[in-house]
Amino acid sequence: MSTVHTFKKDAARVSADISHRRIIHFNMSKYDTAVIAGKKRYDNLSLAKETASAIKDNVIANLSYYLESFENNATSNGAEVLWAENSVDLIQQLSAILQAENTRMLVKSKSMVTEEVELNHHLENRGIESVETDLGEFIVQVAGEKPYHIVTPAMHKSKQDIADLFNEHFDTDKSLSAEELTGFVRNLLREKFINADAGVTGANFLCANEGAVAVTENEGNALLSASFPKLHIVIAGIEKIIPGVDQLPLFWPLLAAHGTGQQLTVYSNLFFGPKKKHEVDGPERMIIFLLDNKRSDIYKNTSVQNSLKCIRCGACLNACPVYKNIGGYSYSTTYSGPIGSVLSPHFKNFGEYNHLSFASSLCGKCEEVCPVKIPLTDMLLSNRQAAQAYQSSFDKGTSSVLFKILSSRQHMNWLGGKLKSKLLSIVKNKFIGRRKALSPFAPKTFNEQWKKHIKR
Ligand code: SF4
Repeated sequence: MSTVHTFKKDAARVSADISHRRIIHFNMSKYDTAVIAGKKRYDNLSLAKETASAIKDNVIANLSYYLESFENNATSNGAEVLWAENSVDLIQQLSAILQAENTRMLVKSKSMVTEEVELNHHLENRGIESVETDLGEFIVQVAGEKPYHIVTPAMHKSKQDIADLFNEHFDTDKSLSAEELTGFVRNLLREKFINADAGVTGANFLCANEGAVAVTENEGNALLSASFPKLHIVIAGIEKIIPGVDQLPLFWPLLAAHGTGQQLTVYSNLFFGPKKKHEVDGPERMIIFLLDNKRSDIYKNTSVQNSLKCIRCGACLNACPVYKNIGGYSYSTTYSGPIGSVLSPHFKNFGEYNHLSFASSLCGKCEEVCPVKIPLTDMLLSNRQAAQAYQSSFDKGTSSVLFKILSSRQHMNWLGGKLKSKLLSIVKNKFIGRRKALSPFAPKTFNEQWKKHIKR
């Protein structure tokens, strides 16, 4: 089945799943309440967003300069900076390092870029155990699933779903409370942190002036992943750059307020290279991978270049009426929701994934909530325009015939109301789906009614 057909089938199934809707709406309503409160802490949120957007604009305009500065400064700090052109390149380089370090097990904090390159899958194939240490990521890993949402990976699961899952895998009591389930995972992971040969984190921001890696989190697991094992690996997309740590007092709260409604996340970590001679703890070696993986192509495409400003707060997903109904898995991509619909066709195969750009009502709520003011609607429209080149001859023919008929009153009057309703229903079933109901055509055309009732 083609990607677009799978998408339509999954989206139709999930949007009709009442239990799924109940869980998502419950979890998102908690998020909405927290975010509204989080934004109220700002005296001038609009100024903060404009400033963050302008900083990111400047970084995008001078990306190679900032990346080189980051590389130089991180290297001076004692870290090793490696460039990866794509996921294959990254996995090859990383595997060679892990093999040389005799890595058998690593702990990993939440990172969407590692999902993008399917890190766990590749490590597993090489006999290396990769343990997710973020609670949400741990839950989806145990369930054999991928993250449902870029900020809250297990958003689609209720507390009871998780209790049942742990009962199945760890034989814990099905009636454990949320606190007891968390405590169980905490104990299990302590052992993993102590014994891990390496720790992998992503990066929320790469600070060019200092060569520092900024990671925000709420559970302390990223800090443990980076500091307990002797090897700390960072995997970051090249768009994560900001000029320096001076900008963190702006970006950290903006990310927290829009991601979870917090003033700041519980832990705000800054990693400046491996352990120094006078330091007693920290990794002996720190390797930072800067991943391109088609970001340079997006950079060159001026109509979607600004999507590289994204700080992955997830606000646009939570605001999107389409995401709320079809859920994260229907997209079948690492990045879902409005930003995913812009980026994923470019990250993957545009011909196969451009349908995602149509998974939007273009209501504009996504760009209204975006903390770095990314014009998501314009980008979705630009993707839609580019998608025309990939339309099948059948779709092109159907659109052209429909356009001709619908744009001419004379053509519309050719057929009776019943036949028009029938034909439109066939087209609707193919392009929109069976669940959507359309109003039937009036039995008599407008012109006929006009003649009969008005022009006597
Ligand atoms: S596009 Fe904007 S709202 Fe969406 S995840 Fe990125 S920064 Fe957040």
